[in-house]
This record gives sequence, C-alpha cells and structure tokens, in this order.
Amino acid sequence: MTAGPLGIFGGVFDPVHFGHLRTALEVRELVGMDDMRMVPCRIPPHRDAPIASPQDRAAMLRIGIRGCEGLHLDERELQREGPSYMVDTLSSIREEEGDRPLCLVLGEDSFAGLYLWHHWQQIPKLCHLVVMTRPVDPRPTPPELRGLVEEHLAEDRASLCERPAGLVLPIKVTALGISATRIRVLLHRESDARYLLPEAVLNYILEKGLYGIKSEYGQTG
Ligand code: ATP
Repeated sequence: MTAGPLGIFGGVFDPVHFGHLRTALEVRELVGMDDMRMVPCRIPPHRDAPIASPQDRAAMLRIGIRGCEGLHLDERELQREGPSYMVDTLSSIREEEGDRPLCLVLGEDSFAGLYLWHHWQQIPKLCHLVVMTRPVDPRPTPPELRGLVEEHLAEDRASLCERPAGLVLPIKVTALGISATRIRVLLHRESDARYLLPEAVLNYILEKGLYGIKSEYGQTG
C-alpha cells in the first residue's frame, strides 16, 4: 500500500462549527491521514431533516475549510438520490481507492447509534472506525456494539495503516462543547454565536438569512 489512510468525516453540518473543524484537523494529524474528506449528507436517514439546504450546508463547509491543508469537501452524497446511507458512500470510495486504509471519523454520540444505520455490519468491512470523544454528548458503548469494539480494538494509531479496514480506534480530541443544535438555538433567539464557528460561515448565514436570523443580527453585539 502506498497512499496513507484517507479520513471520511460525515455529518449534517447544519451549520459547520469549530467542533467539526478542529477535531477533523487533529484526527488527520494524529492518525497521519493524507487527506480528510468532509462529506455533507443530503438526507440524514436517522434524524430530523436539516434546516439549511444541502447547497447551503456544503457552501458553509467549503468556506469553513478554506485554506486548511488536508481538509477537502466531498459532495458525493449531495449528488445521490434518496437517503444518504454511509454504507453507499463508503462503497463508492472503496471502489475508487482500492486497498487504501479508509477511516470513518465520528463522534462517540454518532458511534453509539451505529447499529441502527443501514447495513451497519458492512461498515467495518469497508473502513476503520475512529471514534472521537465528545463533551456535549458523551455516550457509553451500547451493548449492540460491544463485540465490535472488544474484538476489533486497534492496538495503536499506526495499526490503521497496516490494513484497509476493520479496526476501531477511540481517540481523544480537544474537548469543544459546541454543537450545531446550540448554534441554531442561539441564532434563532438572536443571541451572539460568534467564536463557536468561523466568522466567514456566520457571515454567510447572515447574508442568506438562514436559521431565522434577521438582517439586524449582531448590530448591537
Ligand atoms: P446537531 O447538534 O445538529 O446534532 P452536530 O453538532 O452533532 O449537529 P453533526 O453534523 O451532526 O454536528 O456531526 C457530524 C460529526 O461530527 C458527528 O460524528 C459528531 O459526533 C461529530 N461532532 C460534532 N461536533 C463535535 C464536537 N464538538 N466534538 C467532537 N465531535 C463532534
């Protein structure tokens, strides 16, 4: 295998915030990934529909990662009809990448629901799972996933480079108690959301009037 591991950071990104961006950058460096693909979903299968359109969420991501080496936007889920199943995304990336190690990066809150995902048992066959700590919503491993974690726990970060898929690596990242839900609530209440997300993303939200924000937002803040 020549290429280093490829990271896949899926999400709704409604909107993207520093909790996504800082952790993506840290995991990329800690694991030694050449590339981290940020993959916004079009229709999340397991939760309420996003507030912002897929185009706006992708645009905010593009703005958020601008100038950050190694983070790239991957829009394949936006181009697919129907619910955005991660197993389909991983299969299409696997087809393109041959036996390169693929690492699905997800917070522990998302990992705790993995057993509810479409064809979830295929996922560890397609990629490694890198599970980040998340202070907003820490979750114990549910019984349905204990076998996966116990039998496939990675010895260390380097072991992810030695095979294409199949390992689970818990990883400690800087604790950032930021969530998109909290940002949407702040914006809806006309409260100041600065310093939770990139200023350029906040400006985009303001220009487009997303999340019920009014044009006079921030003028007194
Ligand atoms: P919402 O509040 O709308 O549920 P969110 O902030 O959790 O959104 P998502 O787009 O759903 O954002 O998250 C994408 C991925 O990023 C998930 O795997 C999630 O666990 C992870 N993630 C989001 N915020 C953080 C954070 N602050 N620290 C670590 N991981 C995070």
